[in-house]
Amino acid sequence: MNRRNFLTTTSIIGASLAISGCNETDRQAIDYTKHPKKDSFVKKDVNVNKNKKVIINLATSWPAHFAIMGTGVDKFAARVKDISGGSLKIKIYPKNVLVPALAVFDAASAGQIDAFHSGPYYWKGKNSAFSLFSGIPFGLTAEEINSWMLYGGGLELWREQYAKYNLYPFLGGNTNIQMGGWFTNPINSLDDMKGLKMRIPGLGGEVFSKMGVNPILLPAGEIYTSLERGVIDATEWVGPALDIKMGFYKVAPYYYSGWHEPGSILELTFNIQSWNKLASEHQSMIEVASSEMNSNMTYEFHAKNIYALQELQSLNVKLSRFPQDVLDAGKKALIEVVDEESSKNDNFAKVYKSIKKHLDLSKQWDDVSLKYFLNER
Ligand code: CA
Repeated sequence: MNRRNFLTTTSIIGASLAISGCNETDRQAIDYTKHPKKDSFVKKDVNVNKNKKVIINLATSWPAHFAIMGTGVDKFAARVKDISGGSLKIKIYPKNVLVPALAVFDAASAGQIDAFHSGPYYWKGKNSAFSLFSGIPFGLTAEEINSWMLYGGGLELWREQYAKYNLYPFLGGNTNIQMGGWFTNPINSLDDMKGLKMRIPGLGGEVFSKMGVNPILLPAGEIYTSLERGVIDATEWVGPALDIKMGFYKVAPYYYSGWHEPGSILELTFNIQSWNKLASEHQSMIEVASSEMNSNMTYEFHAKNIYALQELQSLNVKLSRFPQDVLDAGKKALIEVVDEESSKNDNFAKVYKSIKKHLDLSKQWDDVSLKYFLNER
């Protein structure tokens, strides 16, 4: 047998061994060579006109050059300019410059801007299913949610849901696991949570609400003074890298590990007509640069969190874990929230079903691999 024949034979044996271990229906459900599938409403047939500079107006929900999220978008725009040879310019409008921070979805939907960078859970008032694309409490980690998005059908579901709003989303970063928040007093049992006024948005807020907490939404600039004056008793934010800049440790020193946002997705979303107007080369450049932004931002959060945690510990922050009865109540509350939303909204039920399937399978794999390793390391 020559080398070529040997390789062909062994790869066929290898492939059949791998296939025999799979559930046939699951295996057929996902054709990885065609992921993500091409959307019928997206056109990719226009060629670039090198003599014409194209400008994309992109609004964000962040202040100008905001750490990691804002600077990540800055780097994305610079990359697009570079690889397009200057023929494509992403013009960034930080929050409230062109449109208010939380009006970017509507502005892009109406075609007033071409694109935005933000987070899907801000739009749950339009459709509760949107909050699921950011992730769920006790749900998928950053790595797992990216795997669901790219290879588990998540991105198709997201694009299907956003198409109803004339929008076309891309993965635009991930905060990684977020911390459980800053508390003015220690939490020794579930009773200590009851009646607390806490700044916490999204599905996490709904879960905390069922546990007896009063979730409150506050603009970022008002959180610190609200904690200091006792208007609120606790707040979650993101993780060490961004939390340390907010100074919460000075007024609420009890810092808890989190489970309410295990891998929150950030989005780069286009108005569909603006996307379709782009030359196919420009579309490819954005696909490549946004994929880079997605991974860069995820790793930057991780790298900056590890140093910021060290700094917070030197500032005598009281790092702790929620007691078991809080975790038990959180898991129970999550089931109630999911059941209620699923019965009210078919879109929510459909997206949740897809996430749950990926989560259940992922848990089996991660329990014997990553979780085992992290516990032993
Ligand atoms: Ca958060």
